[in-house]
Amino acid sequence: MRKPIVAGNWKMNKTAEQARLLVADLLPGLQAVPAVERVLCPPATSLMALKAMLTGTEIGLGAQNLHWEASGAFTGELAPAMVKEFCEYVIIGHSERRQYFAETDASVNKKVKAALAIGLIPIVCVGETLAENEGGRTAEVVIRQLMEGWKDVPTEQAGTIVVAYEPVWAIGTGRASSGPQANAVVADIIRPALIALFGRDIAFGTRVQYGGSVTAANAAEFFGQPEIDGALVGGASLKPAEFIKIVEAAAR
Ligand code: PEP
Repeated sequence: MRKPIVAGNWKMNKTAEQARLLVADLLPGLQAVPAVERVLCPPATSLMALKAMLTGTEIGLGAQNLHWEASGAFTGELAPAMVKEFCEYVIIGHSERRQYFAETDASVNKKVKAALAIGLIPIVCVGETLAENEGGRTAEVVIRQLMEGWKDVPTEQAGTIVVAYEPVWAIGTGRASSGPQANAVVADIIRPALIALFGRDIAFGTRVQYGGSVTAANAAEFFGQPEIDGALVGGASLKPAEFIKIVEAAAR
């Protein structure tokens, strides 16, 4: 059985003070759903404050990015050990980072290996753009992202990686994929690629989230799919009642 995992990607929202208020609102509802692995990914400036609030709870903390080098002249970046001080998870390869910050499958691969080496759980995003989708290139793109992003990852570490299938055209657009459509991408593209990389045990043990305009209204449609093990939630994760309903839907 794969335990469902729902993560909130706050993106570049909330000061540390606002983050504390949001977590105070979220905590009672989130703590009531232990059947779901629950993760909050605020901006890095809030990690210290939220770590203090979440210690002793089962709510995990994640960063939105990291650098693969241990230290050095990389202005503005966070080393794996810096992230590990506060977090158990890290989002890697989000489409906004690929689109606006020139992240490539090769840099995703270095980050994945660095995160695993230090004991972080990577939540690695893959997904096709609208043009790729309409051009019938979803399989080609997602397989490339997996093959290159997961390249040389030791098999014994590969099973801890969480895949977030996030079609780029669905992120922040209000135009979610459908449950069956997302399920088919996982069943027909993602799991076969993971089988090719690491074998059936790892592939079928790997949790795959759906991401892209998930709301309390559509969450159950995704969580009802056999191949979908949770969600990476952007906009709706900033609304406490909405995010709690999404987490509750994942428990059913
Ligand atoms: C995301 O940021 O990963 C995301 C899926 O955003 P949204 O839920 O707002 O589409």
